[in-house]
Amino acid sequence: MIYSVIVDILASEVDRIFDYEGEGLQVGMRVLVDFANRRKEGYIVEEKLTTDCPKEKLKKIICPLDDFAAISPEMLELGRYMRNEYHLRWVDVLRLFIPAEMRMGRVKTLSKRQASLTSDKLDEILKSLKPNAAKQRDLVSFLYNNGATFTAQLTEKFGNGALKALIDKGIVKINEITVRRTPYKDLAQVDGNRHVLLPAQQNAVDTVMSNLSGRYLLHGVTGSGKTEVYLTVIENIVQSGRNCIMLVPEIALTPNMLRQLRQRFGDNVALLHSGLSQGERYDEWLRLKNGEAQIAIGARSAIFAPLSNIGAIIIDEEHDSSYISDFNPRYNTLDVASFRAKQNNSLLIMGSATPSLTGYYEAGQGKLKLIEMPKRINQRPLPKVEIVDMSAETRSGNKGIFSRLLTERLTETVLKGNQAMLFLNRRGYSSFLMCTKCGYVAKCADCDISLTVHREDNMLKCHYCGKKYYMLNKCPECGESSFRQGKIGTQQVVDLLSGMFPDVKVLRMDADTTQTKESHGKILEAFAKGEAQILVGTQMIAKGHDFPKVTLVGVLDGDQSLHREDYLATERTFQLITQVAGRSGRNEETGTVVLQTYTPAHYCLQLAAKQDYIAFYKREIALREAGSFPPFCEIARIIYQGESEQDCIDELTAQYAELTNLKSANPSSFMYLDKMRCPLRRAEKKFRFQILMKLSVDSLATVLPQIYAICDDKKKNSVQVFVERNPQNLS
Ligand code: ADP
Ligand code: ZN
Repeated sequence: MIYSVIVDILASEVDRIFDYEGEGLQVGMRVLVDFANRRKEGYIVEEKLTTDCPKEKLKKIICPLDDFAAISPEMLELGRYMRNEYHLRWVDVLRLFIPAEMRMGRVKTLSKRQASLTSDKLDEILKSLKPNAAKQRDLVSFLYNNGATFTAQLTEKFGNGALKALIDKGIVKINEITVRRTPYKDLAQVDGNRHVLLPAQQNAVDTVMSNLSGRYLLHGVTGSGKTEVYLTVIENIVQSGRNCIMLVPEIALTPNMLRQLRQRFGDNVALLHSGLSQGERYDEWLRLKNGEAQIAIGARSAIFAPLSNIGAIIIDEEHDSSYISDFNPRYNTLDVASFRAKQNNSLLIMGSATPSLTGYYEAGQGKLKLIEMPKRINQRPLPKVEIVDMSAETRSGNKGIFSRLLTERLTETVLKGNQAMLFLNRRGYSSFLMCTKCGYVAKCADCDISLTVHREDNMLKCHYCGKKYYMLNKCPECGESSFRQGKIGTQQVVDLLSGMFPDVKVLRMDADTTQTKESHGKILEAFAKGEAQILVGTQMIAKGHDFPKVTLVGVLDGDQSLHREDYLATERTFQLITQVAGRSGRNEETGTVVLQTYTPAHYCLQLAAKQDYIAFYKREIALREAGSFPPFCEIARIIYQGESEQDCIDELTAQYAELTNLKSANPSSFMYLDKMRCPLRRAEKKFRFQILMKLSVDSLATVLPQIYAICDDKKKNSVQVFVERNPQNLS
């Protein structure tokens, strides 16, 4: 038999399939092959009877790497789709489908040796042992009383010799037991009461279940009880024997959802995300693959869960930008989910309090069925949002980062024994370091990006490449030592709070405090338990969490994201503010939100304060249509990056010329085409350039393959070319 193999090599720019000979293997198996005189891992993507490869050159597959096909035919089909849709290489796609650690044999099933007695006749055994063999006698009695025990425990108690002697005598036997590595084993359980569905929730479930291959957009305000809807749908699907995938936008949100799923479905749930240990990830993946778990939950990568017979795919916070991968391999999780749902004839449910404009627009076009849940559970009112004009605050003499109103509200909250969350749109102590005399700003030598001051270790860090630099004492330009540290950061807020409320415990959650495994869960759990009264954080605290005692949310820099230079800035800001505001007052007491901003009159902030999604949608979608932005066009960007600036320019120029020709031949397909440097001019020592285009949605199917063909026709090996569709950021 001939097998077509994708060889797993990273450096390769070629996306080629090589034929090998073999017997009795399956499509989707990982195999070891001889490639350019080296042993390489590969994936079988096709099986056939003949090959164009001349007989004398045809090599044999050395051996399979697993005794099962790691990638199912269904996943291979998904791979083909992603490859064509996003212009990706096979290798990059296939690597998404298996736990990274499986490659190069870096992780295996964990097994431990377990000892047990070969007979249950204790008297006879003891009689057969010498009276002075005390340790052996004790070990036998121990096993008799305790049953099978791991050998490690026995040797610790009774020494190596005794165990070995008993094995040699045939009194004790050893079994290899597979040990499962379970993520978040100690996740605290909350009380297991399940809610009786309220009419709005019941209606949502009924609507969904009335068409089991339907596509739904569940628009429910924060606190409307969407989670209970998801859980009920999953329960129905699982009972009918089909499998489910549930996605949340961030790893930080997985512990909470995992807890609720485990409560209802126990071991039938497996968690997949990049924050797990290698062993855990492998074991959870294998449980899904083997059918030991029917429900996969995780962040974006869980969409590649090795499940077949899927009955429902649920995407919570559908609008979240984390569903779009903006590094290689670039893909949109929503498209992938949609494809898998179609393959499996399954439900697709996307939920949000602030649906993406594109999603809501598609619902209007009938591509998704809209389900509205406009009320909070138990008629709890939405929190009251108070907008504070920070320029006025400055004019009246308050130069601090807390407005007087926020200080007042914080004091009230703390005194009442309630909790508050303070939200900031970045991490670190403050952002950049600037010389106040000459205006010099410390930047990363490789990335040309302002460095961020980190006070824990008094270092400057580049958030793009992670490189660290020593803190500066003197300005390298003018020699003065008068620095100003840019904007406010979480640590600075924490420090200020401890000055204002010395007895109040404050927790901080941002990228720096959540680097270790399971730290997300720990911080949130501590806050949920009331171990702190104030939680200060970045976007990580904005989404999804449900803390009943939080009655105040402060947004310290409400317009921070409003001034980013791209068409999504307003939509993102609206989402962010609605999401954070939704954290307040979820229980009996009404919540308050204090929104600090320098542009208080902006419609985005005004409507976010009222939580009026529909009004915002109408206004924003009209602007998108007038300016021809998605969903009224498709934006594509081709990125060129390489260490040689000239090579990048040459490649870009050549491809731009071809694209210009394509545009002339298809004038109605291109609404815009231009080339330029990326705003982030260098990253990781590479220069970056881009071609931007706006394409008409109607002609996408014909023109995209031609654009991809132009990208493929690359002349310079030193330049990497990537395509992004509707990119979420244009840096
Ligand atoms: P959402 O995801 O829409 O923001 P949640 O699912 O977190 O909302 O629900 C908000 C709160 O309401 C939670 O504390 C949840 O336990 C509670 N809740 C959900 N459904 C019900 C119900 N049917 N009856 C009573 N309380 C409910
Ligand atoms: Zn850098």
